[in-house]
Amino acid sequence: NVIQELMDLDKKHFLHPTSPIKQQQDHGPTFIFTEGKGVMLKDMAGNTVIDGMSSLWNVNVGHGREELGKVAMEQMSKLAFSSCFATYSNEPAIRLAAKLAQIAPGDLSATFFTSGGSEANDTAYKLARHYWILKGQPNRRKIISRTKSYHGVAMGSTSATGLKPFRDFINSFDPDFCYADHFSTQDLREVIESEGPETVAAFIAEPVQGAGGLHVAPENYFKEVRSICDEYGILFITDEVITGFGRTGKYFGIEHYGVTPDMMCFAKGVTSGYAQLGGVMLSEKIHQDFTELSTGTLLHGYTYSGHPMACAVALKNIEIIERENLIENAEIMGSGMLKGFRWIQGERQIVGKVKGLGLMGGIEIVKDRKTNERFQTPVAPIIVTEAAKRGLICRSVVFDNQDTVVFSPPLIINKEEMERMIDILHDTIAAVEAEVLI
Ligand code: PLP
Repeated sequence: NVIQELMDLDKKHFLHPTSPIKQQQDHGPTFIFTEGKGVMLKDMAGNTVIDGMSSLWNVNVGHGREELGKVAMEQMSKLAFSSCFATYSNEPAIRLAAKLAQIAPGDLSATFFTSGGSEANDTAYKLARHYWILKGQPNRRKIISRTKSYHGVAMGSTSATGLKPFRDFINSFDPDFCYADHFSTQDLREVIESEGPETVAAFIAEPVQGAGGLHVAPENYFKEVRSICDEYGILFITDEVITGFGRTGKYFGIEHYGVTPDMMCFAKGVTSGYAQLGGVMLSEKIHQDFTELSTGTLLHGYTYSGHPMACAVALKNIEIIERENLIENAEIMGSGMLKGFRWIQGERQIVGKVKGLGLMGGIEIVKDRKTNERFQTPVAPIIVTEAAKRGLICRSVVFDNQDTVVFSPPLIINKEEMERMIDILHDTIAAVEAEVLI
């Protein structure tokens, strides 16, 4: 049958991104998805599941939005592609850059477009380094990121990624990357001092760490970061690849902390995954310095920087987010999700700390809640597998001795769907708990 044929072809020919290669070879894909509608996904075998992750934290407006397909088709029929290099431009890219300037925090006002988040982060590092060359401080080349951070898989963004397994995957990196503790501003200060402040170009942080295990920064963390960066003259970059476009209950995650970065990276939710797009925004001041000091060419650009179709889709996606008040819904449903996690925590012994901001949430799995002792073998991956069988997609994080299940459902999720998600999760944890506690 067709499913078996596709399973065999997948195993033989498809090298999956970020996947356990041996398991993939032995078992093939667990789902071959064919359709999506709202928060639901359907596979070839006819199973339907709640997409509790918005796929890869990105399908913010939910699946099956015909108006996004229509806008993509119209743009592709009119002008599928043209260059944005040098003096060429196109209307969707111009209008999207202007719209982003309107919705971004503070004076972030100029956008460099990429095709995704890894490229956005690599672009930010290069622009930060070039900025300091223009400013006559070429020694400022180091990029400080945080432990438990995830910034993508291009060479620069891999080097910035604090999660060690991603760096251990290869044996050579971009030079001039260093790491500070993910929650300690004292450690950030010490890293800056020990590296030499005059050698540091920028500090980059996710407002909420997603792939690294759902870590919400302490309340004053980013205010202190901003003032440390100002004190040492270091650029502050936020990586809003997950936290942008309403995910946390505000347009951008950093807004929870009342500070503005000098540069901001985005991707994912800008198109809700309907097209490949990312970018970096610069503050008005940095942009002005660039234009005033630069005498040569900005020698950084991707073929698809400012892709007309992707930009047209992004504009329509943002229109939907605003029209349907999805940011407000993320805030309301996010507190419902956290309440649901707390209820499960009260019911089930193996649930430790629960955490979240807006529609990003996580539950830590523990053997003993009092001592925070972990299971020898992580249990979160078992929960993820069992939840999928019961109709819920979620994700496990086991890096750095963590044992956490994380969630990021579409921003359109309603009360009933949230209750269903929490019920499935509870039943799954109850079943797994009965197995692992004996
Ligand atoms: N930055 C963050 C915070 C991310 O979570 C991701 C992807 O998950 C990236 C960057 C990389 O983005 P992409 O996979 O689009 O290259």
